[in-house]
Amino acid sequence: MDVKILPALQDNYMYLIVDKATKEAAVVDPVEPNTVLQAVKEIGVNLTTVLTTHHHWDHAGGNEDLVKMHPGLKVLGGDDRIGAMTEKVAHNTEFNIGKLNVKCLFTPCHTSGHICYYVTVPNANETAVFTGDTLFLGGCGRFFEGTAEQMHKALIEILGNLPDHTKVFCGHEYSIANLKFGEHVEPDNEDLKKKIIWANSVRKEEKPTVPSTISEEKLYNPFMRVNVMSVMKHANRTDPIETMKAIRLEKDNFKAPVD
Ligand SMILES: [Zn+2]
Repeated sequence: MDVKILPALQDNYMYLIVDKATKEAAVVDPVEPNTVLQAVKEIGVNLTTVLTTHHHWDHAGGNEDLVKMHPGLKVLGGDDRIGAMTEKVAHNTEFNIGKLNVKCLFTPCHTSGHICYYVTVPNANETAVFTGDTLFLGGCGRFFEGTAEQMHKALIEILGNLPDHTKVFCGHEYSIANLKFGEHVEPDNEDLKKKIIWANSVRKEEKPTVPSTISEEKLYNPFMRVNVMSVMKHANRTDPIETMKAIRLEKDNFKAPVD
């Protein structure tokens, strides 16, 4: 599988997922259809499918125009508020992009119909997950339409159980702000310190910090570490779900120290 990262708007990412064997492609959250179609032309792939993570405008807002410009696309999503949707998917819905297998993971909380897309390559150890605004590098989405319990299920039970080497492609470039909050939660976390230094150097060159991996996120993302003693201690809680609730509330109002 090839994944082409397509930056859009202020800090969004769209992704073109290509099956190298058949040249069939899907696009995740094509908010800027022109950018997507230009990439499709340049790489020379057959775009068949739109994977929508959630209905927010900066993710689903390009669907209708893209379908007009490129008729015949399948548009998948898990929420009736998604524009131009041709097929509603649910937890564990599976389909193929060429020879790639895609499994839908229902992760409601940021919105009540949020879907993450888990992609695997047959007979290969290559896996990737497209997490929209559920899991970010070093953080997670705001709980607009859900609860800490739902985000705990999404991050710890669903995404946290994917293979360690699974690449994580998230919906926004929020990494440095997220990692700074992580440092506030766990000032002694060495993996976090290393990732901040790395992320600063990458962003200085205006390159994306995505993808990370599931195993990396478990090392430095406080929202994937709500069952770790140091994070619970920071939140002054003894329960992971209560910890999730407390640190999300804290992050909502957090201003990183200026350095
Ligand atoms: Zn959103």
